[in-house]
Amino acid sequence: MPYDFDLFVIGGGSGGVRCARIAAGHGARVAVAEERFWGGTCVNVGCVPKKLMVMAAEYGMAAQDSHGFGWDAVPVQHHWAALIAAKDREVGRLNGIYRRLLDGSGCTVFETRATFLDAHTLDVGGQRVTADRIVIATGGRPVRPDFPGAGHAIVSDDAFALPDLPRHIVLLGGGYIAVEFAGIFAGLGAKVDLVYRQPLPLRGFDQDLRTALAESMAASGIRLHPCASIVSVVEGCGSKLVALSNGRVLHADLVFTAIGRRPHTAGLGLAQAGVATDGSGAVCVHGQAETSVPNIFAIGDVTDRLNLTPVAIAEGHSLAERLFGAGPRDWALDAVATAVFSSPPIATVGLTEAEAAARGPADIYLTRFTPMRHILSCRARKTLMKLVVCQQTQRVLGAHMLGEDAPEIVQGLSIAINCGATKPDFDRTVGIHPTAAEEFVTLRTRTRVALAPTVEEIDAEGTPADLMGAAEMGVGAAE
Ligand code: FAD
Ligand code: NDP
Repeated sequence: MPYDFDLFVIGGGSGGVRCARIAAGHGARVAVAEERFWGGTCVNVGCVPKKLMVMAAEYGMAAQDSHGFGWDAVPVQHHWAALIAAKDREVGRLNGIYRRLLDGSGCTVFETRATFLDAHTLDVGGQRVTADRIVIATGGRPVRPDFPGAGHAIVSDDAFALPDLPRHIVLLGGGYIAVEFAGIFAGLGAKVDLVYRQPLPLRGFDQDLRTALAESMAASGIRLHPCASIVSVVEGCGSKLVALSNGRVLHADLVFTAIGRRPHTAGLGLAQAGVATDGSGAVCVHGQAETSVPNIFAIGDVTDRLNLTPVAIAEGHSLAERLFGAGPRDWALDAVATAVFSSPPIATVGLTEAEAAARGPADIYLTRFTPMRHILSCRARKTLMKLVVCQQTQRVLGAHMLGEDAPEIVQGLSIAINCGATKPDFDRTVGIHPTAAEEFVTLRTRTRVALAPTVEEIDAEGTPADLMGAAEMGVGAAE
């Protein structure tokens, strides 16, 4: 019996929309279901509104910094409601674009929830729909904490529609979202306490970046509480009392937890279709997008691998090409550049110093300096740039930066690194002057050699460099 569609995509976010459009462009009969908002997390409660809020915070800082350049513009009053209204207009515009892209490419669109009845049949808002192939692109949702009083806390989905800018915010988490929102709220004038359970934020990032970020955040007035967590929140007298695991108690108008995201597969009927998931609910995939069922595929955050918009898009595009086009499109998914839009931002591509050293001796080139604009602005803010180079081949394995424009700079560098550029290639590149970026091609003197940790160092893992970094900076004694 013929199926209703050649391809059914569940989820109209970054990955799902790209997959559907490319497949339809190759002549496939494609349907897409979206239960909440076109464009998914990125457009509605992720990258786009977040970046607009980062920019809002940056304008305030730029106004302050302009004093050093002769301006007497004082940042007067920030109007939170105006920012939210402007952000909502832009999100609405993008929603419409996503929807029109699907219509324009000939996809059939269902604005409702889809769940599996079996491997080829879906319940789409009460209607039975069949498809030859099905793509799961349902993304993820924020994890909600379970400490007493957790109901008084918000998660990132809620942060984009707050009625007012809270005066005092306690943020829990040391990952992308917590660090980014700490910068946003502090930049807009709120008092921010950042509570995270590691000695430094951003576990998994290069150690020097993590240390420099903690230092920058502390310098900008964000109060850091490393090696701590929230144990309870009690509401009373118009404020929230936030008890931390280190015995401190903070007062806040808002408690915001950002402790990770979980794949959105609950109630999707995956068991009926025979699709295997792991303990966190992520769809298990092998190869690029193959699930345990041959005609069912999964892309993007629902597979919980590298949860970034361009990765979801690349996976969706590649899958559609493979199923209906000329074959898979080649994406360099082994060295994906990523940025954290903290204040200042971080961007990174390739291996950290520790990862490279574990593979063999690595030459480390590192510079830390006050960027030109902050010499006049007098803002206590440094830029850090670092190259991690394989000693044997001189291939650049990783590039890391903290400082203004880091995401824009590292995007360009990631092409060179994906092409296998060596340190001599960087050295013979002529810089653009005066920029911060030119430092990446003028790093002449090796800072140190990084070697794999010795057995003794591994045994002593209880006192990692993390702790030393935090102690050196005096962070953790913020109250
Ligand atoms: P999603 O975009 O989440 O789309 C999934 C869609 O499926 C959703 O619209 C959902 O409503 C729908 N859906 C779910 N179940 C069903 C169902 N049963 N039926 C119908 N529809 C369903 N990444 C970056 O690269 N850069 C950033 O700066 C960045 N910032 C971020 C900031 C925040 C606050 C957050 C939360 C995330 C951020 N990300 C960022 C991550 C990025 O948003 C995700 O990696 C990306 O959106 C994943 O795309 P996706 O298609 O897998 O899922
Ligand atoms: P992350 O995985 O980045 O960070 C989660 C943080 O929460 C970690 O610091 C983790 O600590 C901590 N944590 C986890 N469980 C607990 C707990 N029970 N109690 C206290 N702390 C806890 O998640 P986010 O929510 O920040 O973001 C989700 C994902 O979205 C990111 O990983 C990223 O893929 C994507 N994203 C990308 C952005 C970008 O590209 N700029 C921006 C925002 C999100 P520990 O390190 O100890 O595990």
